[in-house]
Amino acid sequence: MKTLYRDTDLCVIGSGFGAAAPAMRMAQAGASVLILDRGPMIRPEKDLKQSMHPDYLRRYYHQLDGDGMSMTTVRAWGGASGFYLGISLRSPSMSFDQQDADGQRLWPEFLDRQFLDQYYDRAEHMLGVKQVGDNDVSRNGQIFSQIMHEQGGTSDRVRLAVSDCKKCGFCVTGCVHGSKHALYENYLPSAVSAGAQVMTDTRVNLIEPSPSSSGYLIFAERRTGTELQHLVIRASRVCLSAGTVGTAEILLRSRKALNLHTPIARHVQANIFYKRIATLPEALPDGEMYRGYGLPNVVSYDYLSSDEMVVIPYKAIPAQLMIRLRYGSDAQSWWGEQQVERMMAFRHRTFVLTASGSMPGSAQLSLHQGRMRLKYQMSASHRAIHRHREGILEDILRSADMSLGYAEEIDNRGRLRRDLHYTTTHQVGSCPIGTTTTERGQLIGHPGIYISDGSLVPASTIVPPSLTILAMGEYVAEQMLQD
Ligand SMILES: Cc1cc2nc3c(=O)[nH]c(=O)nc-3n(C[C@H](O)[C@H](O)[C@H](O)COP(=O)(O)OP(=O)(O)OC[C@H]3O[C@@H](n4cnc5c(N)ncnc54)[C@H](O)[C@@H]3O)c2cc1C
Repeated sequence: MKTLYRDTDLCVIGSGFGAAAPAMRMAQAGASVLILDRGPMIRPEKDLKQSMHPDYLRRYYHQLDGDGMSMTTVRAWGGASGFYLGISLRSPSMSFDQQDADGQRLWPEFLDRQFLDQYYDRAEHMLGVKQVGDNDVSRNGQIFSQIMHEQGGTSDRVRLAVSDCKKCGFCVTGCVHGSKHALYENYLPSAVSAGAQVMTDTRVNLIEPSPSSSGYLIFAERRTGTELQHLVIRASRVCLSAGTVGTAEILLRSRKALNLHTPIARHVQANIFYKRIATLPEALPDGEMYRGYGLPNVVSYDYLSSDEMVVIPYKAIPAQLMIRLRYGSDAQSWWGEQQVERMMAFRHRTFVLTASGSMPGSAQLSLHQGRMRLKYQMSASHRAIHRHREGILEDILRSADMSLGYAEEIDNRGRLRRDLHYTTTHQVGSCPIGTTTTERGQLIGHPGIYISDGSLVPASTIVPPSLTILAMGEYVAEQMLQD
């Protein structure tokens, strides 16, 4: 088996939202930068498809199925940015004030919304984030706004990193029209133009201090066809950006070699999704479940200060939600030719409402016999919060005379989940700033190792997290340039 040796000033592990700014800004400042990602390269016109075929989705999507919670990640050039929905919102001020069980603020004192705004500005500018226009709100979105208005509430159009959308609705399988401003359309090519080198299909396993210099050795393996190649990279500095699960995994594997005593992945946070499904009453016009953007494109912030959640009408995306739908006690299979009429009714008369909320308690990630494990202990008070938040969604739907249906979740093997189980794509906080790292984002005890990805964000962002992760990446990049 061949071993390849490389030297670089900065090795960036991962190519998602956390990696983008450090890779680009450091390359532009003249450092030699090597970006490694375990996922495949994405050439949008060649690799992306409008397909829900499991073989296609499995190339990119991965799920860590744990006790009480599952986390979905994407492994690809650009991280999840090629497959996410493009919603780009700043986390509200109150999310920076969240506290742990002992009443300690989760974010460092200096880091609040006002401080982060300068980095949000840079991130929004680079991503080309804009608020959608009235014509970009789908029919389900308009129905939601009408319902909120009739209740005396409010709703707002979302901000997206998307332009010239063709409204095919296939955002989560990758935009084939080039409308989504994925990181491989902006930050990453700018990093490459400034000289950054890239290796995809390259999985990092271990980091250890270099015995002969002040830097680090990164041990990785790269698959090309059937061949497996070992890589040893000597880097003066490392930026860990493998995502909330990936960065925790690398550090847990490297714990002994790096002599780490700081806590890793003990208090993982996420946005929790609450969903309720209903049928539109005759008085309301047809909605449209599948046409248009990836989402109806409206959000209500009315429950933010009282219940730490935002309310968003949703689309039932089969691969993402993995739900089996039933109405009443009718347990017939939903799909198939004989079900076309019901599917048409589903398409036009079904309404899904979700909330994205802060996470009660926290989850833990650990390494057990070489594999990552996830555990979220569901307490009675967590269940009470769950019922309360779902109740808010039910009240909104009932206020418009909708009949509530129910959705049942199935696991990866298609088995019905018997107990409450959260599935999130918004995990953060496995290596929080100020706890696992210094306030400059350096791993405690290792000033040459920076962390920049979801793992650094110490608390649930309540709204989708990508813009906050990118803004924190801009902050970490600035620290790297100064150090
Ligand atoms: C379907 C979907 C829709 C979403 N929609 C939205 C949305 O609309 N708005 C929003 O704000 N957020 C959304 N999110 C969440 C958002 O995409 C994530 O929060 C964000 O991508 C996390 O950024 P990150 O840098 O932490 O990690 P990632 O983007 O996950 O990047 C991590 C990268 O590290 C690589 N990696 C992992 N381990 C290793 C290793 N050992 N060696 C080398 N490389 C490694 C992975 O391959 C990956 O490319 C969505 C997520 C999904 C899955």
